[in-house]
Amino acid sequence: MNMRTTKTTCAYCGVGCGMLVSVNDDGAVTIAGDPTHPANQGRLCAKGASLGETLSHPRRLLRPRMAGRDVAWAAALGEVAARFTATIAEHGPESVAFYVSGQLSTEDYYVANKLMKGYVGAANIDTNSRLCMASSVAGHKRAFGEDIVPGVYGDLDQADLVVLVGSNLAWCHPVLHQRLVAARATRGTRVVVIDPRATATCDDADLHLAIAPGSDVALFNGLLRFLDDAQFCHRDYIAAHTRDFDAALSIARDYDIETVCDITQLARDDVMQFYHWFAANARTVTAYSQGVNQSRAGTDKVNAIINCHLATARIGLPGAGPLSLTGQPNAMGGREVGGMANTLVAHREFDEPGAAARVQAFWNSPRIASRAGLKAVEMFEAVADGRVKALWIMATNPLVSLPDSGAVAAALAQCPFVVVSDISAESVTAQAAHVVLPAAGWGEKDGTVTNSERRISRQRAFVAAPGEARPDWWMVCEVAKRMGHGAGFDYAGPADILREYAALTCLDGTRVLDLGALASLDARGYEEFTPQQWPLPAGCMPRPERRLFADGNYAHADGRARFVATPYRAPLARRDKQHAFVLNSGRMRDQWHTLTRSGRVARLANHTAEPYVDVHPDDAQRLGLNLADIAELRRGAQRVLARVRVTAAQAPGTLFVPMHFSAAHASSALINGLIAAVTDPLSGQPESKAATVAMQRYGAAWYGYAITAATVTPDCAYWARMPCEGGWRIECADSRALDDIDAWFARLCGDVTAQDEWVVYRDDARGAWRGLSLREGRVHAALYVAREPVSVARDFVNSLLGVVITPAQRMALLAGRDQDACDEQGALVCSCRQVGAGRIRAAMQAGHASVSAIANVTGAGSQCGGCRIDVQKLLDARLTELAH
Ligand code: SF4
Repeated sequence: MNMRTTKTTCAYCGVGCGMLVSVNDDGAVTIAGDPTHPANQGRLCAKGASLGETLSHPRRLLRPRMAGRDVAWAAALGEVAARFTATIAEHGPESVAFYVSGQLSTEDYYVANKLMKGYVGAANIDTNSRLCMASSVAGHKRAFGEDIVPGVYGDLDQADLVVLVGSNLAWCHPVLHQRLVAARATRGTRVVVIDPRATATCDDADLHLAIAPGSDVALFNGLLRFLDDAQFCHRDYIAAHTRDFDAALSIARDYDIETVCDITQLARDDVMQFYHWFAANARTVTAYSQGVNQSRAGTDKVNAIINCHLATARIGLPGAGPLSLTGQPNAMGGREVGGMANTLVAHREFDEPGAAARVQAFWNSPRIASRAGLKAVEMFEAVADGRVKALWIMATNPLVSLPDSGAVAAALAQCPFVVVSDISAESVTAQAAHVVLPAAGWGEKDGTVTNSERRISRQRAFVAAPGEARPDWWMVCEVAKRMGHGAGFDYAGPADILREYAALTCLDGTRVLDLGALASLDARGYEEFTPQQWPLPAGCMPRPERRLFADGNYAHADGRARFVATPYRAPLARRDKQHAFVLNSGRMRDQWHTLTRSGRVARLANHTAEPYVDVHPDDAQRLGLNLADIAELRRGAQRVLARVRVTAAQAPGTLFVPMHFSAAHASSALINGLIAAVTDPLSGQPESKAATVAMQRYGAAWYGYAITAATVTPDCAYWARMPCEGGWRIECADSRALDDIDAWFARLCGDVTAQDEWVVYRDDARGAWRGLSLREGRVHAALYVAREPVSVARDFVNSLLGVVITPAQRMALLAGRDQDACDEQGALVCSCRQVGAGRIRAAMQAGHASVSAIANVTGAGSQCGGCRIDVQKLLDARLTELAH
């Protein structure tokens, strides 16, 4: 059998891992890490490794749709062009908007930005990356004069101290975390984690500073003061290469250790330990992510961090510098191209004299936007109040991901014209659209993406797009042509677009973002392009390894970096008697964004299959909450129901809920409905880490767990539905009694036939009900109901869905556990290799006493390594057991 292998880049996070995708003659796809890609050197995490399982979509959009009916491309494109043209003619250029995505390729982004800013003549194009790293963009511009990430991943290998701020690296950038863990093992790198939560990342750290939510600026101001007092500031460097140090220091001097401890709620010894380590280690990397960016003071947090690196001249050197870690695969490419409403294009700004005219001349466009457009939150506010009347949403799901999502839904519902381009029409956003355009997805189209270390990589097509799906760049160009702008959008393909964009970056030779070498890339060069970091000036490819800012030259006109004075501003979250909790939101280990892709992979659901809320034990006790209860979180009319996890990893008075769930996967778990649309005044990034909510126990009269081959929505107040092999796994509960469980189970089975065999066990006194439905001897559905949270071995139960079972298995399934299995899997620990705690314990009992030894015999932790921490915990527990 023939096998074709294609080099491409992961569709998920900003690490930008290289992949080798092999496709057999029979269409079977296997995915491995690309050992030659500098970002991951062959590693992949569970999400990346399972990308092949997301390629076929059962409800894939194959043709354009208008008013719920399939139509020809010509009709859909004509309608989009006509409605945008008419809206602009009647209400002006700023009455239309594009909301785009870090999932798009750089080529997609470029033409969308060109159409909006150069041909519509407004700047109302913004990206969902606004929710992810806009504060870093704003901070970089202030400090460096251009949006530049000075650090590279290799710095993590060479640092003596790595400070992780607001970053659960182990879960959110797992391959980078493995790189850091390896460096720690070989060279003893110290790791400090600054995070209100004790996350999985803390398990591989030397110090965890459980900082009060949003107080990072005070901590880093205090560090700047400490560095100055202890004479660790590099006065020569500051004098030669920077400005405004005195202004920043004068603010920082307000933050003595008592003030820092008061604001951050940290112990003095811990803060001093961190300050001393920072001072003592010239090779220090400060890596930061959404915990820094998603804040009303996000830009100041970024600059407070950069201030400390500038003051110590620790920037642009091996193993030293600030390193912003982006969330999405092409958040970087989007911000480079100008996919943000407050940047013109290619790192050129609206307030830059002559920039707009030069860009307009380059594009030969009829007009050019002259001022910044609407940032993400503002854009949907403008939709709500009628200023924006036509909106095109590309490859993103804002009804789930934007804060105050109830208001976003209401805005979209009354928008006169909404277009969504996506791979399926089933997202809640697509369901609100007048026109839905079928987009080619990952693996079906060619393009480039840029990762967090400025490395441009190719995404390559390795399968044909199904039906009539097309790349977003093609749709934008076709609409542009129908709007009368054919000459500006006549591209032969993505390579053609990249060449034009690259030529634009070096238009006047003033920007560090210079891709001149790509301006002459021919078709073969585009096809064979190997990952490269920018800048890539003409005649400079492959580019020799060169660190930005190593010479102390920055992108401000005078070549100097800027210190920024950053007075601390507390989060707006105000706890009162009713809204007693500060709510943090973020990612789960094995899921991605709004679950539209990763939520379809059964093995990824095995780690966590429902929305949960992490609660400190004291708070749980006060509210009468027990582990596995259902909690009800409220803010105004918005409500979330989530499973309770009682954990000391959560600080008292704070909660954590994952951000992923929407009505597609759970009854009431839209966490952004609880988060007010408070934004950073400079970056426009929403504060997603510090909302205030009320919480109480949800008085469930019953709890249930079910598997079913049927796609059904349970009729109960709480449900969460995720895939398992052969169907669905469903958690459920309700405060109303289940009067007729048989009828309820029948609905869960979908279509019940006379041939179906039911096996039911009931104990009315204990409120217990267990039932199986067998169709032609195979398990079609099973339901377990109890007054308490249901305790069944879910992995075992799931494994029997669709299977022809023996009488013994029938009894075991009814009992909800495989009593005979000596290697009971237990709770899943390793998603990649599907290894549960039971097998790991068995391996320990057999004498395997290290994480590596257990990986060798069970496979756990041998792929992405993200669960090695959990394996270590089981080992520690075993050692404690043996010690007693
Ligand atoms: Fe993809 Fe995982 Fe690599 Fe991120 S760390 S790019 S999700 S494989």
